[in-house]
Amino acid sequence: MDDHKISMEKIVSLCKRRGFVFQSSEIYGGQNGAWDYGPLGIELKNNISRAWWREMTQLHDNIVGLDASILMHPRTWEASGHVENFTDPLVDCKKCKTRFRADHLEAENLEKKLCPECGGELTDTRKFNLMFKTHIGPTDDNSSVIYLRPETAQGIYVNYKNIIQSNRMKIPFGIAQIGKAFRNEIVTKNFIFRTCEFEQMEMQFFVKPGDDDEWFETWKKQRWEFYKKYGIRTEKLRWHQHGKDELAHYAKDAYDIEYEFPMGFKELEGVHNRTDFDLSRHTEYSGKDMQYIDQDDGNKKYTPYIIETSAGLTRNVLAFLCDAYDEEKVADKGNADDWRVVLRFHPKVAPITVAVLPLMKKDGLAELAKEIQNELKEEFPTSYDQAGAIGKRYRRQDEVGTPFCVTIDYDSKEDNSVTLRFRDSMEQARIPRAELIDRIRKEIKNYTRA
Ligand code: ATP
Repeated sequence: MDDHKISMEKIVSLCKRRGFVFQSSEIYGGQNGAWDYGPLGIELKNNISRAWWREMTQLHDNIVGLDASILMHPRTWEASGHVENFTDPLVDCKKCKTRFRADHLEAENLEKKLCPECGGELTDTRKFNLMFKTHIGPTDDNSSVIYLRPETAQGIYVNYKNIIQSNRMKIPFGIAQIGKAFRNEIVTKNFIFRTCEFEQMEMQFFVKPGDDDEWFETWKKQRWEFYKKYGIRTEKLRWHQHGKDELAHYAKDAYDIEYEFPMGFKELEGVHNRTDFDLSRHTEYSGKDMQYIDQDDGNKKYTPYIIETSAGLTRNVLAFLCDAYDEEKVADKGNADDWRVVLRFHPKVAPITVAVLPLMKKDGLAELAKEIQNELKEEFPTSYDQAGAIGKRYRRQDEVGTPFCVTIDYDSKEDNSVTLRFRDSMEQARIPRAELIDRIRKEIKNYTRA
C-alpha cells in the first residue's frame, strides 16, 4: 500500500521516468557509483550551481572564482595529507563478498567479525586509500603516477598567490570553485548521495590568524541562509559539530549542515576552520613561500588561516529533489483517492519556469501559444505541451516542479489574455498577455513555499 510518503525508491523512479538522473552505462548493467544527468537533471544542477555561484561571488566584492584542473602535480596530495591519510577502514565478507566501511558497522559485528548481510566471517580491517590513481604519459611506472582530485580545495590553495597578485586581493578574501571530484568510495548507495564521481562547490576564505573564529561563525550563518533562501525547509536541516574523534587532522573546528534525507539526517555541506595547515604544508612541500604580506600592517608576514565551505553539488541535487517532493490529495476532482505528485522547487531552481499549454491544437490556439512561448523564452526556461487533456498536462508539469503554467484558450484570441496557473496552490488567474512576463518575475521574486 502506498502511504504517500517520500522514499528513495520514489525519487529514483521519478528521476528516471522524467529524465532527471539515469544510471551510468545502463545498457551494460550500470556502473557503480556513477550517474548521468538527463535533460531536467542538468537544468536543476545548473540552477543550483548558478545560485551558489551568485551567492558566493556576485554578492561579495572580496570573493573571486577559479576553475582549476582535475589533474594536479602528485606532490599536491602528499602536501595535503591525502596520500597518507585519505583512507577509510575497509572490511570484506569472505562469504558473500560484500564490502563495508568498518566505521559504519555495528560494534558487535565488528568485534565478532560477523557479516551483517549473511552472517559470514569478515576480514581484518585494512586501510583503503580513496584516491583514484592512474598514470600520465606513455609509461606506467611510479614516476608517472597521477591522481584524480578527491576535492577541489587544493586547486585553490596552489593558486592563491597567483590570485592575490593578478587580482590585487587583500585579506580577508575568498576563492570559489565548482568542479568534479573523485573518490573510490567503498560503499556507494542511496542513489546520488555518495558516488565515486561527483561535483563540489567550495569556497576557501583566507583570513588573518586570530580573526578565524569570527569568520567561521559568519560563514556558518551565511551557508544556512543559502539553503533557506532557495527554499529548503529549515526544519529539515540541522547542524552537526565534529567531535574530537571526527575532526580532520588539520581542522580546528568543523560543522556539517545535515539534511534529513529519506535515510535520515546526513551531511550536505561542511564548514571547516582548516587553520594554516594547507598553506604551511604547501610552503614546506613546494619550497615556495605561501605567506601573505600585509601591506596595511607594516608589511608583516603571516600564513593565513582558511575557513572552508564545502558543499556537494550532486548531493545538493538530491537534497533539493527530496525537499521538493510531495504527494498531495487533490480534493477538487470529487474523486476520493486522487493524488498528485508535485515537486515544490523554488522557482529559481526549478528546471522549467513556465510551461505553455494551448487548450486545443486547432483553431489557431497552437500558433498563438507558440508565439507567446517565444516571448517568454527570452526571459525564462520554458516548455511547450499540447498533448492530452489539460488536467493531465498540469499534472505532468507538477511532477517535474514547473511553478507556472500559461494556458491559451479561445478567449485568448479575442481578449489577448491568458490563464496563469500556479503549481503550489493550483489557483488560476486571468492575466493580460502584455503583463505576463512582469507578473511571473514578481511571483518568482516574492515566492515562499506554502
Ligand atoms: P563523508 O563523511 O560523507 O564521506 P566527507 O566528510 O568526507 O563526507 P568532505 O570531504 O567534507 O566530505 O566533502 C565535502 C562535501 O562534498 C560533502 O559535504 C558532500 O556534500 C560532498 N561529498 C563528499 N564525498 C562525496 C561523495 N562520495 N559523493 C557525493 N558527494 C560527496
